[in-house]
Amino acid sequence: MTPEEFRAAGHVLIDWIADHRLRIPDLPVQAQVQPGEVAAGLAPVAPDQPESFDAVLADLEDVVVPGITQIQHPRYFGWFPSNATLSSVLGDLASSGLGSLGITWQSAPALTEVEEVVVGWLRELTGLPPSWRGAIHDTASTACLVALLAARERATDYSETRGGLQAEPAPLTVYTTAQAHSSVPKAALLAGFGRDNLRLVEVDPVTRAMRPEALTAAIEADVAAGRRPAAVVVSVGTTGTTAVDPLAAIVPIAQAHGLWIHVDAAMAGSALLLPEMRWLVEGVEGADSLAWNPHKWMGTVLDCALLYVADPEHLVRVMSSDPSYLRSTVDGEVTQYKDWGIPLGRRFRALKLWFHLRLDGVEAIRARLRRDLANAQHLAAQVAATPGWRVLAPVTLQTVCLRHEPIGLVDTAGEVLDGERLDAHTLAWADAVNASGRTLITPSILDGHWSVRVSIGAERTERADVDAVWQLLRETAETA
Ligand code: PLP
Repeated sequence: MTPEEFRAAGHVLIDWIADHRLRIPDLPVQAQVQPGEVAAGLAPVAPDQPESFDAVLADLEDVVVPGITQIQHPRYFGWFPSNATLSSVLGDLASSGLGSLGITWQSAPALTEVEEVVVGWLRELTGLPPSWRGAIHDTASTACLVALLAARERATDYSETRGGLQAEPAPLTVYTTAQAHSSVPKAALLAGFGRDNLRLVEVDPVTRAMRPEALTAAIEADVAAGRRPAAVVVSVGTTGTTAVDPLAAIVPIAQAHGLWIHVDAAMAGSALLLPEMRWLVEGVEGADSLAWNPHKWMGTVLDCALLYVADPEHLVRVMSSDPSYLRSTVDGEVTQYKDWGIPLGRRFRALKLWFHLRLDGVEAIRARLRRDLANAQHLAAQVAATPGWRVLAPVTLQTVCLRHEPIGLVDTAGEVLDGERLDAHTLAWADAVNASGRTLITPSILDGHWSVRVSIGAERTERADVDAVWQLLRETAETA
């Protein structure tokens, strides 16, 4: 494709994207396709000869769009917000258009330096310690893995340079809770700690946050048994209920035993843009690393996760590689992001953050976050005030966990009397709601029984959308 052909097709595509965004409210929220339907609409083999842009666009419209669950829909209340603001989409396009290659500072100096500056802006905006430094990763899952690799190497005094974990005299242990995102145990396993050495520390039954006394007990039991506590992953805003582990209480316990403290604030990190929400990470100056995803609630289009560390020199020592073809005369003076994570080649992801922050402005982002927090409180108040419905967890952020409890299935104190029928009822009405295409909510298991998460925070979700979904949930569940 020549630049002139690109210009022509690109104008059409931008118009198509803008039109698509405008019509999203009229599309079903959940994709209505059956498994295999999209693949069946595609050519079985790649074309030998070029096709027209019109043909590709027609398939995008007819085959791909029906296979997209509309996360940008104002009535999307599913898993978690994954906003893709159009300002950040422009930055992503600019990034691809530049076609830069981020392997060293020299391969694209601007890629490195825009990233340093923008990651610094967000550190300031979220109130993280000024001495911390960060980098952009694809996801919070990768960031957690990187943090646990750094933890492993600190605990073993760089065992990677010797026999690795396999040569360590005692097993290293990692602590988190059963409420932590599945990426946390996954990272612990991938970093080589082993499931036997992963401790799921008891949580408070109401807040579902880690109990500091239980952490102390778990660490002491491991030490007594000759194991070596290495890291704790603190969840700030769990996926299930947005529970917040008490970082300020955890930090001194972990520090006393030399543990690496990683804070997983993947979803909740956006809230730190609001000064009144900084209590979420009280004590963070004692932590070693924190990750959050601008690609969730804040709305920088996927993929964009930030990992901040207190000791970048340590991270670089763990992650660095030094093949001769990547060496340069400025190595000592510049940041080489290849040494801050796993991949060598990096995209110019900072551009989408830079575009997003500059074109939307921080105040508008903050106003949207405050709107969503208020909408969650509004929904929770209505659920709590409606007979037969229950709010199942404290509403700390923008997620409301709820359940419809028909008479006889749960007692007034919330004790489940007939779990089987309750679960069947919850799944039936939640599936009916989702199948309607009018909204998307997420059934999930909480304390052994199905519940429904209503995760508020899509960019276009207003109070009227929240009221409409509540109406729909009531109509569907109460008549199921
Ligand atoms: N941590 C938490 C608390 C999350 O909610 C999620 C995703 O929902 C993740 C980690 C994983 O995020 P990612 O998809 O960026 O790996």
